[in-house]
Formats: sequence, C-alpha cells, structure tokens
Amino acid sequence: MSYVDEIVGEVVAKNPNEPEFHQAVREVLDSIRPIVDANEKSFRRDALLERLVNPERQIKFRVPWIDDNGDVHVNTGYRVQFNSAIGPYKGGLRLHPSVNLGIIKFLGFEQIFKNSLTGLPIGGGKGGSDFDPKGKSDREIMSFCQSFMTELCKYIGADTDVPAGDIGTGAREIGFMFGQYKRMRNLFEGTLTGKGLSFGGSLARTEATGYGLLYITDALLRAHDIDISGKTAVVSGAGNVAIYAIEKAAQLGAKAVTCSDSTGWVYDPDGIDVAALKEIKEVKRARLTEYTSYRPNAEYHEGRGVWSVKADIALPCATQNELDVEDAKALVANGVIAVCEGANMPTTEAATKYLQDNGVFFVPGKAANAGGVATSALEMSQNSERMSWTFEEVDSKLKNIMENLYANIDDAAKRYGFEGNYVAGANLAGFEKVLDAMNAQGIV
Ligand code: NDP
Repeated sequence: MSYVDEIVGEVVAKNPNEPEFHQAVREVLDSIRPIVDANEKSFRRDALLERLVNPERQIKFRVPWIDDNGDVHVNTGYRVQFNSAIGPYKGGLRLHPSVNLGIIKFLGFEQIFKNSLTGLPIGGGKGGSDFDPKGKSDREIMSFCQSFMTELCKYIGADTDVPAGDIGTGAREIGFMFGQYKRMRNLFEGTLTGKGLSFGGSLARTEATGYGLLYITDALLRAHDIDISGKTAVVSGAGNVAIYAIEKAAQLGAKAVTCSDSTGWVYDPDGIDVAALKEIKEVKRARLTEYTSYRPNAEYHEGRGVWSVKADIALPCATQNELDVEDAKALVANGVIAVCEGANMPTTEAATKYLQDNGVFFVPGKAANAGGVATSALEMSQNSERMSWTFEEVDSKLKNIMENLYANIDDAAKRYGFEGNYVAGANLAGFEKVLDAMNAQGIV
C-alpha cells in the first residue's frame, strides 16, 4: 500500500466520527502524491505524513456562562494548534452548534496550506465552540466570550497563536474576547485579528475574504480571456464572506442574484441589494425573509436552492458540504464557467470531481478564501509596528496577494502535470513551503 493510503487509513481509524477531517486529509494527501512518491523513503524515515496529520496540540475546555435569567450553561471550547512550521498558529474561532473536534481539526488542517499559500509567515490553527450566538442578548454573548477567553488566553499570544473570526464570530465577539484577553494577561497586543478600528483593527479586514474571493475569480477568468463584467453569479450565505463577495462582484461589473441563510434563500433578478443585505444581517441580525420588503421584485424561498439558478459563476460562501453532486449537475446544465469557494470545503468530493470532469474552473477554498487570513496577517504586521495603513494600501496588498496566489497554484498545477486542476495546484503549492520548513526544523 502506498504511504499516502496508509496514512489516510490510519487517520480514519484513529479519529473515528470525524468525517470532515477525513475528507480534508484525503483530499490534501491525494493531491500531494507526486511529492510523497518521489520522496517516500525519507518521508517514511521522518514520519513526515504522521507529523503532518497530527496536530501539534489540541485544547478542549469547559465554558460555563450565565444567561440573562441567571441560568448557567456549559459549552465546550476548542483550539487546535495544528502546525507552526512557517509561523505562529493562525485561524478563526467558529461559534456554531455544529462545532465538534472533527470540524475544528478539518478547518485547522486546511488552514495550514491556506496560510502557506498567502506567502505570509503564519502557521495553521482553528478553534471555536458549540455555543449558538443566535437569539442571545449582547450581555449573554459577552458572558460567553469572557468565559471562553478566560481559558483560551493561557494558550495564545501575538507570537504564539493569533485567532480571528469565523462563522458566528464577528466584530462584536472579537471585541469582547480582546477585552477579556487584555484583562487576564495585562497585555495590549495583536493577539486577535478582526479587531475594531479603534483598538488595532485593520481597514479592509471586514471586506477581505469576500473581496479576495472576487479578486482571484477575476484573475482566473482573465487568465482564460474571459471578462467578469456582465457575468451573473449565484452566491450562498449571507454572512461576512457572502456580503462582501456580492459587493465586490457588483464593483467589477458582475451581478450576484442570490444569497441564503440557514433557513432560506433569496433570488433577486436585478442583483442583490448589498445595502439592504447589510442592514438585515449586520445591523438587525434578522432573517432573510425580510429581504423582499426592501425589494418587491425579489423572491424568498424556504430551504436550499441557490444552485438551481442559472449563472456563469457560483460562489459558495456559507458552510462545509453545502454544494453536492446534484447541485453540481444543475450548475453544469446551466452552463456555469467557474466555481470559486468562499467558504471552507463547501463542495463535496463528488461534486468537485463532477465539476472538474465537466470542464468547470474550480478554485478550492484554501486558495479562494485566503484573502481573509492574509489580511489578518497584515493586521498583525500593523499591530507589530503600531501603525495603521489606509484602506487603499491594505486593499491593494490583498489584490496583489490574490493575484500572486492564483499564479502560484496555476504554476504548481502545471509543474506537476495537472494543468487547470487548481485543487492539486493549491495543495501542492501550499505543501511545498510547509515541507521545506518542517524538514529544516528537524523531528519536532
Ligand atoms: P457568518 O457567520 O458571517 O455567515 C455564515 C453564513 O452561512 C450565514 O448566512 C449562515 O446562515 C450560513 N450558514 C452557516 N452555517 C450554515 C449551515 N449549517 N447551513 C446553512 N447555512 C449556514 O460566517 P462567515 O461569512 O465568516 O463564514 C462563511 C464561510 O467562510 C465559513 O465556511 C468560514 O469558515 C469561511 N471563511 C470565513 C472567513 C472570514 O474571514 N470570515 C475567512 C475564510 C473562510 P445563518 O445566519 O442563518 O446561520
């Protein structure tokens, strides 16, 4: 049996009930076979793949908090510090009832290669909790965030591990967590990113993941002599990534006609009204059902369905495994040109294969949504030099990073004989740098 297959089998056997983690490991290891096969002897000698798939450290802790009625609740907190070969651990904190160790490990594993692809010195990590922020008061959110950080602060720091936002963790939650970190550690340092602008946040961080997604989509299309302007896009999600993807699509002359949340989805033939979407989601924290009161021409549907709408570009920006093979078939039948992942692993393995087999350009999340963490790293740089850069400065660095990233994954795919396969290109290019650093640092 090949070394890759042995390790994938070991990961499945040793980490039962973690299907998302198995999926992420399988996909990455499968892509890096050419490097593994060419170096099998030394990799086996150094247990390189065993070290790659085992987190350096995983922390699981109790998070007790008190609600507005005085009742006590207990959630579980996680931080998986996966790989620090190329820099301090970096990755978001997800607050969602579906969170478990397997989900955090899949996200942390992906983060290693994503962070490497940004070209910046950041290692891979991820964390979060099964806490559900929906329907909680600001006081309850604060109570949870303070309790969560009271424990987490023992393990993170500006040069150790720098968490950020993710699903359910936005500016409000980062603010509460930063306040508690500072209080517990008596340190004002850039140990969280996505901070408010008045206490060390970076301009353009809020927009970065969605904008970056469109910068790389544009680069991809231009490389194939296709103009993004005039194209129609279907987008899922209605959170941070989706909102700013829709906004940048409009700025580039494309029209995003859908968005969704966990209860339903919207089709707006005139193009999603970003101002209305921001008000509903960022200000009122309400459901998408409200959208039609802003735009009478739009339709609201319960359940899922954005992938059934005819479009040139599909941008999944909600959550993992939200685009399955039936959705992929619908997209292909409707003539989709490109699928670029704003979320982490939103496309199932079978759907990815179907899209690639049918000539659709497919850019995986670890490349396409890397603009978020890249801008977080720019926030770390600004914090270290105690400076703030202008919006234009950060945005132009982001655009540059995404264009270079596209060029790098395209080049890696070509170098290893997988031209046009950006999944292989992203995994190979991301792995090369991590491998070099791991080899140089010995058996650690
Ligand atoms: P948000 O919490 O801001 O928004 C998430 C959106 O997806 C919401 O509309 C939410 O609907 C929907 N959603 C979440 N879970 C589910 C589910 N299980 N089923 C259906 N819909 C769901 O998160 P972000 O926009 O920050 O993150 C979206 C994705 O992008 C995630 O995969 C995240 O890991 C990834 N990502 C985010 C980055 C960032 O900078 N924020 C960076 C890189 C990747 P509802 O509100 O109803 O729950």
